[in-house]
Amino acid sequence: MNIGAQLEALREAGLYRSTQLISGPQGPRVMIDGRPVLLLCSNNYLGFADHPRVRQAAADAAMRWGVGAGASRLVSGTMTIHEQLEQRLAQFEGTESCVLFGSGYLANVGVLSALGRDGHTIFSDALNHASIIDGCRLARADTFVYRHCDVDHLESALRERGREGDVIVTDTVFSMDGDVAPLAEIVALARTYGALVVVDEAHATGALGPGGRGAAAAAGLGGEVDVIVGSLSKALGSYGGYVCARREIVELMLNSARALIFSTAPPPPAVAGALAALELLIEQPLRPEKLQAQAMVLRDELAIADMRPPPGATQIIPLIVGAADDAVRMSAAALARGVFAQAIRPPTVPQGSARLRLTVMASHTSSELAGAAASLRAAADEVGVRLGVGVDSTEPVARAA
Ligand SMILES: *Cc1c(COP(=O)(O)O)cnc(C)c1O
Repeated sequence: MNIGAQLEALREAGLYRSTQLISGPQGPRVMIDGRPVLLLCSNNYLGFADHPRVRQAAADAAMRWGVGAGASRLVSGTMTIHEQLEQRLAQFEGTESCVLFGSGYLANVGVLSALGRDGHTIFSDALNHASIIDGCRLARADTFVYRHCDVDHLESALRERGREGDVIVTDTVFSMDGDVAPLAEIVALARTYGALVVVDEAHATGALGPGGRGAAAAAGLGGEVDVIVGSLSKALGSYGGYVCARREIVELMLNSARALIFSTAPPPPAVAGALAALELLIEQPLRPEKLQAQAMVLRDELAIADMRPPPGATQIIPLIVGAADDAVRMSAAALARGVFAQAIRPPTVPQGSARLRLTVMASHTSSELAGAAASLRAAADEVGVRLGVGVDSTEPVARAA
């Protein structure tokens, strides 16, 4: 098929994607086409991306260290600012050590390809993030995809084919669904079968747990997981990724994670911005609680409006529409009413579960969120979609195949 025909096929299937231009920073409200709208699909959960102290730290770092790191970490790209943030992150996560990656995507690809050795298996949740799937694809290990959050399915697979040194990997807060992995059960199974546990806290850091320390910490499992993968790009408002783990695992990353070795170290302004955001989070440990309170406000308002949000408590709230083109039409109708909530379609989510994925920010006011629920209700009615149907995330989907 030629490229034009490929694009046409995507258009016909309602799966064609394009970007939406935003003017100004990622605040709770943004300008689109010269009009102010409520931003309900940004991961800048705590408002650090445009916080004055974070901006200033990035600007100062640019003046002090320059814009680029110049080389990979293993050549000449390891600068004092990298080491400062790594030490602070390790302290924050309660691990021995930490190493930065260019992004959360690269961290997952690097960790899984380095830990997933030949002759072993990576056990991966069916709804894990695409970067985990790509890490599994690059690893020499085989991949076994277990049904979403189904610990019985995971256990039967471990019993059948598990080997000492295998890897279990899961999002903690699932990026498109907002539900939380059964971490205590996963850790217990890993103990029994001698597997390593890798958790991806991209949407949990700064959002869940004591002082925003993530879902593993919230479950009292801080020291129990082997690897914490995080992103500097969401609640921490900057750009980059990290791996927190015991020293020998971090050493292994420096020696065999190709996504780290063969990519330039993160730019000093981004690293300094993330460090300033982390300091703010540590100084203001109640910010994540504000975020969760506002998430509950929106969840309640959506339930009152009979929008059928799935049960849960995090700041990620999917409104499952079903068909891809319905999700696109509802998103457009909501935007016309002043609410920007992007449509999320296959292959990002399973077939038949296209959705508007809403994300709350701590800085959204309760009345804004109530207004947003009303606008979304009106948008759904205008385009005639039924919400909350066709949800079956218990089926193993092909995403991780
Ligand atoms: C966003 C995301 C990533 C990738 O992080 P970036 O820093 O944006 O590359 C990884 N895992 C999950 C679960 C995510 O949601």
